[in-house]
Amino acid sequence: MTSDEQISGASNTTVSRILDGMEYGPAPENPVLARRWIEDHGGTFGFFIDGAWLPAEPEATFETIDPSDRSVLARVGRGGETQVDAAVRAAARAFPSWSGLTGHERARHLYAIARGIQKHARLLAVVESLDNGKPIRESRDIDVPLVARHFYHHAGWAQLCEREFPGHRPLGVVAQIVPWNFPLLMLAWKIAPALAAGNTVVLKPAEYTPLTALLFAEIVEHAGLPPGVVNIVTGDGEAGRLLVAHPAVQKIAFTGSTEVGRFIRRATAGSGKRLTLELGGKSPFLVFDDADLDSVVEGVVDAIWFNQGQVCCAGSRLLVQESVADTLLAKLKARMETLRMGSPLDKAIDMGAIVAPVQLDRIRELVTRGRAEGASVWQPSWACPDDGLFYPPTLCTDVSPSSTIAQVEIFGPVLVAMTFRTPDEAVALANNTTYGLAASVWSENISLALDIAPRIKAGVVWVNASNLFDAASGFGGYRESGFGREGGREGLWEYLRPDWELEEAPAGAADHRETVAVPVPGSRIDRTYKQYIGGRQVRPDSGYSHAVAGVNHGVIAHVADGNRKDIRNAVEAAHAAASWGRRSGHERAQILYYLAENLDQRREEYARHVRIATGWSTKPATREIEAIVARLFTYAAWADKHDGAVHDVPLRGVTIAMHEPIGVVGVLAPDESPLLGLVSAIAPLVASGNTVVAVPSALYPTPACELATLLDASDVPGGVVNVVTGDRTVLGEVLAGHLDVDGLWYFGDSDGARAVEFASAGNLKRTWTVIQRRAWLDTAQGEGPEYLRQATQVKNVWIPYGA
Ligand code: NDP
Repeated sequence: MTSDEQISGASNTTVSRILDGMEYGPAPENPVLARRWIEDHGGTFGFFIDGAWLPAEPEATFETIDPSDRSVLARVGRGGETQVDAAVRAAARAFPSWSGLTGHERARHLYAIARGIQKHARLLAVVESLDNGKPIRESRDIDVPLVARHFYHHAGWAQLCEREFPGHRPLGVVAQIVPWNFPLLMLAWKIAPALAAGNTVVLKPAEYTPLTALLFAEIVEHAGLPPGVVNIVTGDGEAGRLLVAHPAVQKIAFTGSTEVGRFIRRATAGSGKRLTLELGGKSPFLVFDDADLDSVVEGVVDAIWFNQGQVCCAGSRLLVQESVADTLLAKLKARMETLRMGSPLDKAIDMGAIVAPVQLDRIRELVTRGRAEGASVWQPSWACPDDGLFYPPTLCTDVSPSSTIAQVEIFGPVLVAMTFRTPDEAVALANNTTYGLAASVWSENISLALDIAPRIKAGVVWVNASNLFDAASGFGGYRESGFGREGGREGLWEYLRPDWELEEAPAGAADHRETVAVPVPGSRIDRTYKQYIGGRQVRPDSGYSHAVAGVNHGVIAHVADGNRKDIRNAVEAAHAAASWGRRSGHERAQILYYLAENLDQRREEYARHVRIATGWSTKPATREIEAIVARLFTYAAWADKHDGAVHDVPLRGVTIAMHEPIGVVGVLAPDESPLLGLVSAIAPLVASGNTVVAVPSALYPTPACELATLLDASDVPGGVVNVVTGDRTVLGEVLAGHLDVDGLWYFGDSDGARAVEFASAGNLKRTWTVIQRRAWLDTAQGEGPEYLRQATQVKNVWIPYGA
């Protein structure tokens, strides 16, 4: 060895020894400004209502704490009936003038808010970290920049709203309820699109984390937003409940637990209030054997230890291909040893504190349960700080897919690992949950990754990435993760409605009957119709039918009395026909055109059926059939045109918004225009790849029963459309309560809408209830993009580039 080598060897040894032995020093963000802001308010905050601050009664306040050391940060008003009512009234008063502004005027306001957020970015980030316990690195570099981005992006939508959403208007007063895990970001996701579209809002922050919403209110105040456009009412779940129940609220946008989401679904059933729910998840993180495992490790860190795992879309289930499982888990454990946990204000920590004692207890209980159910639990050798609410990063292996920790949302830094052998098994495991919020797919093989992405039931799929968000891309779930999207063009639709919708209380269907037909038991039988299930005419389970009277023709037929079992069979048949959704739009179009062609040839025959059923004269009955032929053409045309988008997110890559079918959708057809109304619902659903279980009008079911022969003759595969006749109320509730039905369209009165919306809360299926009679012959009301949007859900697939 030369002396040079000796020197370099010696110095290398010294450098590596120094590096190995180096400790991070503390790098705290200064909280002085944040604490001064709290002190300036005397440590107590009231409510922001109608552009002014309403003080809270001292006895009606609660503490908000710093979870990293349990110290009290401030006291905050506990909003009750008085405050909620005042805020909703203020929002209602502000609505006419705010919605009457031009898009440009609203854009200027949103732009001013975005600027205000940027100006106060540091203060917002520190307050957020103090109140929530999240690392300052995250609040400073992720949450707050995304908040500003949301207001900029939606300033743009306000500017473009009139041009891009013609014929639509805002809803009115929107109630917005947000959770504690991303207090300011969730506020931005909700307030920015609502204001851009011209709505006014009342927002209730979470009890644990109210402070940044109050600071935001000050920013809004200084930005000169008109009074009443944004109102902030702090409080607990009761304030949320009062807000949901307030009669002047037109829409509720909620993010939080699936349990409260269900409660809100039931509480608003039949009220006509629009609803979007962004709920929990148990998102899969799939790793295939050709993935870059070092990148995967960093992806896992982002997926489950970001915000201490208190993320609705956290990649909490690691599904790894068996051949690389040992290698990956070893790398992961090594990385977990290097994660740093500590004061949220320390710029060099990876993980901060859990938001509240009750959440910490919940995490501990679930991990204990996992262990009891046979899981091996691994945690790094370092110790958590013991003076605050901390929980270490945790890896659970030897977990069975049905165990509690593999199914229940833990909402903490706990990763549950399982293995798979084949891509099919990976998809089956990924979908083995009631949720459907997000997924990550890791593979260097883009063909494999893009084959897997559409097969996973989730609203967002990240390829070789995780937890990417942007204002231009809609976020939201499938299944029990909720419905509706926040962000992007798809998110704007949630705050708009068609101009033509009448303002007065809609009348029930019965008021619109052209004629009244009454079932006449035991009359002469002209014809007995069976059910149409799975492409076959089948007898009803009950074996019974009932007579249907035509207005001028006595008994015209008997139709089957469908029951719960018939609905179950129809749902099963509809699921068996799921490959319909994987056919190309072109193929579906061909079948719809063929259906139209066959109907056109039998136009007189079908017009006669409509005439006999309804008592209409030849002219309107023929017009009805002609309209159906045209409607089928419309949706054949749309079948390959209601395509998605590539969103322009600030990322080197593409974000593809795909329109996917909802799945199996129940349809309760309207009484008025019995055949045109039914086809107007079935056709967009089928064109979009859904399969349908339809319950025709109970008054005029026979034209729908005649549809079966036409479907058969037109090559519509068995199970794509199923028709079950019978008591609409009973069948509707069975369909709405069925856990394997993914969506439900209801046309009828508000009592019926209430019943199906209430029953739909079981699996939180997406419902569309239309209680306002539609002019079915009018193409503005009876067809078009509104139907296609209701028939599809947007899945955003993020594909970053990078060699
Ligand atoms: P909740 O769903 O209870 O809270 C979300 C928001 O809803 C809060 O503002 C809450 O108020 C409010 N709220 C509570 N009850 C009602 C009600 N009856 N009507 C209207 N609003 C209501 O979530 P938690 O904070 O209790 O967390 C519990 C679990 O929920 C977590 O462990 C996690 O699993 C999940 N969760 C999921 C989130 C997500 O992003 N999907 C976010 C947060 C939690 P308040 O805070 O005052 O109770």
